[in-house]
Formats: sequence, C-alpha cells, structure tokens
Amino acid sequence: MNIILLGPPGAGKGTQAKRLVDERQMVQLSTGDMLRAARTSGTAMGKRVADVMDRGELVTDEIVIGLIREQLETRDAPGGFIFDGFPRTLAQADALGDLLAEEGQALDAVIELQVDDEVLVQRVVGRAEEAKAAGQEPRADDTAEAMRTRLMAYYKQTSTLIGYYHAKGKLTSVDGMGSMDAVAADIARVLG
Ligand code: AMP
Repeated sequence: MNIILLGPPGAGKGTQAKRLVDERQMVQLSTGDMLRAARTSGTAMGKRVADVMDRGELVTDEIVIGLIREQLETRDAPGGFIFDGFPRTLAQADALGDLLAEEGQALDAVIELQVDDEVLVQRVVGRAEEAKAAGQEPRADDTAEAMRTRLMAYYKQTSTLIGYYHAKGKLTSVDGMGSMDAVAADIARVLG
C-alpha cells in the first residue's frame, strides 16, 4: 500500500510515518529528511538548497522529484511507501502519479492531518526547545519566523492538493489534534 501523509508543518506527518514503518514494514520517503541529509554531507545540491530551506520556502520541483524518482527506482518496499512531505505542489503530485505508474504501482490513500495553526506554531517552537534541552542543534527552520513562511507556503502551494486528491477519490481527513496514539488509531482505521 502506497500512501501520502499530507498536512502543514508540525502536523505530525513524520511521527506518524515512523509508527507506520515500525508497525507495517512500510518505507518512509521524507524529502525534508533527504534534503537535510544532502546538506549534512555537503553535496552541491545540499549547499544550493540550504538558504531556501532555512527561510521556510520550497525548494524546486525538479530537485525533490529527482530525489523521489531515485528512491522509487532503487528501493524495494513490500509493505509500500509512505510519502511524507511530498508532494507539496501540483507539479510534484502529477510527477508522483507518473513515477508510480512507471513502476507499475498505484497510490492507495492520501491522509490529511488537520491541526490548527496556533498548535502548529507551538509544536514547532517546542520541538526546537526540546532539541536545545537535549544538547542537539535544532532545525534552523523551527523558529516562529520561518514557521510563518512555511505555513504560508503550505496554504499557497500545498493545500490545493487536498482538492486534487479529493477529486481523485483518494483523500481522507483525520483530526491531528489528538494524542499521537489517537491519531495513529484513526490512521489505522483508514488503512484497514
Ligand atoms: P519538512 O521536513 O518536510 O518540513 O521539509 C523541510 C524543508 O525542506 C521545507 O520547508 C522545504 O524547504 C524543503 N522541502 C521538503 N520537502 C519538499 C518538497 N516536497 N517540495 C519543496 N520543498 C521541500
């Protein structure tokens, strides 16, 4: 089963994806994690995207589609793929449909996690504070200011995918405000 976790920054996509990896042997494909890894290893692409990411804007479709293409062509996922933070634009959504078709695969479900904006900002700023308390470097984009840009990018460029997947009959919206366990239970009900 191949699924997309859709939702604004801080909605819990990564957390829920990791649970699905543990519980269902699915493979998580997070373009955010891939881009951060490219930065850490200092690749030319990593350097190119650093400032854009730190500001909270989206990197180009070409880059993230390339990352996903490479994963789909090389990774085996008997339990299916979880797309986390991808697609974020209509061009990416179309490309994902094409890439899956090329691999003889289908998209089974899109789960939208719904969380109020105030809670998103609290969560993301809290995530940075927790990282600092644990002696780790917080994400450069987990600040109140970058978060405003990230939320704007979500509403301007990504939220249109809710309608796109609704029209394709793939969309289920889940209340993402509850506890991690409650949200996981709702997702499990959708996936069956
Ligand atoms: P995330 O970890 O999903 O919150 O992503 C962190 C940052 O990486 C985003 O704010 C963007 O700058 C970039 N990014 C991640 N995924 C995408 C994507 N699918 N399209 C464009 N930019 C992305």
